[in-house]
Amino acid sequence: MDELDRILQAAFPLMQTKLNYTDSVFAVWFSDLKLIDLKEDGALFTTGTKLRKKILETKYKQTVKEALAQIIGFEVEPRFELAEEEPVFPNLIVPDETPEEDPNERLEREREMMALTDETRSRRSVLDDYTFDNFVEGSSNRFALALCQAVAKEPTCYNPLFIYGHSGLGKTHLLAAVVNYIKKHSPGLKIVYKKSEDFINELIAGIAGGTTAAFKEKYRGADVLLIDDIQFIAGKESTQEEFFHTFSALYESDKQIILTSDRPPKDIQPLEERLRTRFESAYIVEVQPPNFELRLAIIRKKSATMGLNLSPELMEYMAERLNNNIRQIEGVLKKIHAISSIHGVTVNKEKIEEIISIVDPGNVPTAIMVDRILAVVSKHYGVSVEDLKSKKRNAEIANARHVAVYVIRKITPMTLKGIAGVFGKDHATIMASISKVEIDIKTVKNAQAQILSIIKEVKGKQ
Ligand code: ADP
Ligand code: MG
Repeated sequence: MDELDRILQAAFPLMQTKLNYTDSVFAVWFSDLKLIDLKEDGALFTTGTKLRKKILETKYKQTVKEALAQIIGFEVEPRFELAEEEPVFPNLIVPDETPEEDPNERLEREREMMALTDETRSRRSVLDDYTFDNFVEGSSNRFALALCQAVAKEPTCYNPLFIYGHSGLGKTHLLAAVVNYIKKHSPGLKIVYKKSEDFINELIAGIAGGTTAAFKEKYRGADVLLIDDIQFIAGKESTQEEFFHTFSALYESDKQIILTSDRPPKDIQPLEERLRTRFESAYIVEVQPPNFELRLAIIRKKSATMGLNLSPELMEYMAERLNNNIRQIEGVLKKIHAISSIHGVTVNKEKIEEIISIVDPGNVPTAIMVDRILAVVSKHYGVSVEDLKSKKRNAEIANARHVAVYVIRKITPMTLKGIAGVFGKDHATIMASISKVEIDIKTVKNAQAQILSIIKEVKGKQ
């Protein structure tokens, strides 16, 4: 398997989970997807039929993008192309319309269409599975969990509630658990649950279609309003305006509001002052990254649910290695599950390490890291990437090139020879660049700070 293959293989289970598709439905759209090129700004995929290409473009692009970002650690724009067989007559002009349809192709299309309807029928929300019962408690999420449970049992006892924390730590899970609990125990209450992107899109559509009244009625008629990822409202003025009124109307008539965000209110920028004041006067609780104990508890619980038989040593090893977020832990477990059920083997430590190194965004493939370094250095010094890689020797370009070389050497496992290859130089020149920067760091004011800020930006993109 090459690196691109490995990336895609690691992304598949994430896509499937996100879509909540059965294996067979998932296979219809994704079985022949190939990742054939990956750059700083784009990912090129191929697929076997026109229909799949179209469906991937219109329906699954975002899913593919998000899953890929989880694996490689930063976002790239996916493009889909038709995988072409080697043309037999390269000069033959292909007519616009296919005159006669290949029966096999038609069969396949029918199969795809059936799967599509099957999918619509069988689709249920992954949110249905998020409950308090399957939320594992630890010191990092205990307070948030307690507040959510209290509010679910007795809406408005903590009102409004604002939950924030990094991605993948369980905010959406908690929000959905509140929804599911209320649906079950207080079916009379009207719940409005929205991702903030959907809220924003609905509002924009409402304004365009002149149906804002219906929009208002829907939101202001809620007994419990839950909005996930409210940080996306930053900078959206008309949405903020509308949300402020909705928020105030609900709050004043003593309805429960729960918001989540990947950052605290003070860091949502730009945000209307009056809305910020509202957010800041909420009950604010942070969900923190899980400690070792919680990670281990989650691995235990989830592997038991999946029927994975992992030894205690392996689980501890995973808890040690996967110290980032809970979504990542799940991703690895699903991958292990997929491998062991497809191949009927139990996975060993080496295999797990291989999976982790793919899923762990700390471990971005070198070639991609190099592209990113070049892009950041280019932006930083106002020198194009081509110039960085060129033979040009004017001082500005040469200086930027030295820095790029130095940073590559510093933060990737690349050898001097490998780096020489990137710049079309020899290995002595590369060594000279590195010593030049090392001297600058010691002698030139701000040189070190500049390099650190470049490294930070490169890594920050994860
Ligand atoms: P966020 O919304 O904070 O980005 P999510 O709620 O989507 O994170 O959580 C990511 C994944 O991790 C979900 O599948 C969720 O079920 C799982 N998860 C997060 N925290 C826990 C937990 N404490 N116990 C069980 N599963 C969890
Ligand atoms: Mg979320």
